[in-house]
Amino acid sequence: MKAIILSIGDELVLGQTVDTNSAWLSQHLAGVGCDIVAHMTVGDEQKAIEQAIEESVGRCDALVISGGIGPTDDDLTRQALAGVMQAPLELNQAWLDHMSTYFTRLDRKMPPSNNIQAMIPRGATMIWNHHGTAAGIDAMFQSGDQKTTCHVFVMPGVPREMKGMFTRDVLPHIQKASGGAAIVSRTLHTFGLGESTVAERLGELMKRGRNPSVGTTVAGGVVSLRINARSASPTEAEAQADETAAACQGVLGDIICGSGEETLPTVIAKMLREHAGEVDPASKKTHLTIATAESCTGGLLAKLLTDIPGSSAYFTQGWVTYSNRAKYERLGVNEEVINVYGAVSEPVVEAMARSARRLAKSDFALAISGVAGPDGGTETKPVGTVCIALASKKSGSTARGDDRYIESDVIPRTFHLPGDREMMRLRSAFMALTMLRFHLLGRPLPF
Ligand code: ATP
Ligand code: MG
Repeated sequence: MKAIILSIGDELVLGQTVDTNSAWLSQHLAGVGCDIVAHMTVGDEQKAIEQAIEESVGRCDALVISGGIGPTDDDLTRQALAGVMQAPLELNQAWLDHMSTYFTRLDRKMPPSNNIQAMIPRGATMIWNHHGTAAGIDAMFQSGDQKTTCHVFVMPGVPREMKGMFTRDVLPHIQKASGGAAIVSRTLHTFGLGESTVAERLGELMKRGRNPSVGTTVAGGVVSLRINARSASPTEAEAQADETAAACQGVLGDIICGSGEETLPTVIAKMLREHAGEVDPASKKTHLTIATAESCTGGLLAKLLTDIPGSSAYFTQGWVTYSNRAKYERLGVNEEVINVYGAVSEPVVEAMARSARRLAKSDFALAISGVAGPDGGTETKPVGTVCIALASKKSGSTARGDDRYIESDVIPRTFHLPGDREMMRLRSAFMALTMLRFHLLGRPLPF
């Protein structure tokens, strides 16, 4: 079943309002197995609306329109649909009565301009609007030669009214016509490899025309896989989507860091909370805890970790030691080490992580120092160079109580991350979380 979504409104084509109706409709139509052929947007102009309807009815089985059925002169969708159907607009007495009662109840006289909202093309059916005065239209378009038929639905532009009408009176028709077919989606997130490397590894799984399909999108350095399974039944589609998700997991392994609504910080939060650490004698808490020491990220890592409600269970403390002096005065990083190796160096982040863990008395500490740019890069340390260190409990240590934070094992790493200042900082924070994630998994970083 093919569908086209048509949004109408000057504010949409002018970019003053973001067309959220189309995105919402797409997701819900796809959920019942519709192939969305196109999204179209036109302004409040009758000729343009007529043209969009004419073009669309020949290309799909269902045309879902929102907007342009208000009471004002610039609301022209019903007139345009009547024009294309070559049918006159007729008064729907039931809706006129409903509107009159509505206005009487408000102790107001119904403005004559509202009459138009009770007009629908001959042969079409009125769709009740439970949230407003703009009734919808359900029309079966048939071309003169009977070769083309298309089910056309017209709904209000106001998102709340549109959603109510769609769910109640449009979706059931489409669901019935699609014979119970469904598209089920799964999203898997990866971090650390570029989009093309991920695609290369997935190989045949990403082949065009495959069902379920696998596509990739990138945001903030996170490469996400979007799996869409189409099937005659929702249960079958669910099973196929799960099978393909498992196949992707099989190929990419631990590179996959989460699914659906999960983000790298929420995954880390969950891991820290679920790993039983040693009982902290003071708080009696068994969660693993983390502290941060940041330079170029300016507290972003601490922000990401504390964005999550309940983060006090695992986040103890963070330092933003931006200047060399702060690194020395707050974290005791040896000035000599800074002078010899530079602020962006493995020995410096190693010392930052070690001190942060000891001072915060946390199970882990992550330290970041890098060249975020746009200036400040050198031949040996170009913009994008970032050093990250993870401090954890010294292996084999038998120290107990607060003494167990004195000595740490530290893993320092240097990365060269792409992107502008904002992107580089975000990727640095995500890379630090990734180092911790692999440590918690008990595996080496695979890149
Ligand atoms: P109705 O048919 O419900 O009267 P309309 O197009 O005539 O719709 P408008 O007054 O133009 O009504 O729009 C009502 C509100 O709905 C406006 O705030 C508008 O920006 C918003 N809106 C319209 N279409 C969309 C859309 N596709 N996505 C998001 N918001 C929309
Ligand atoms: Mg409008």
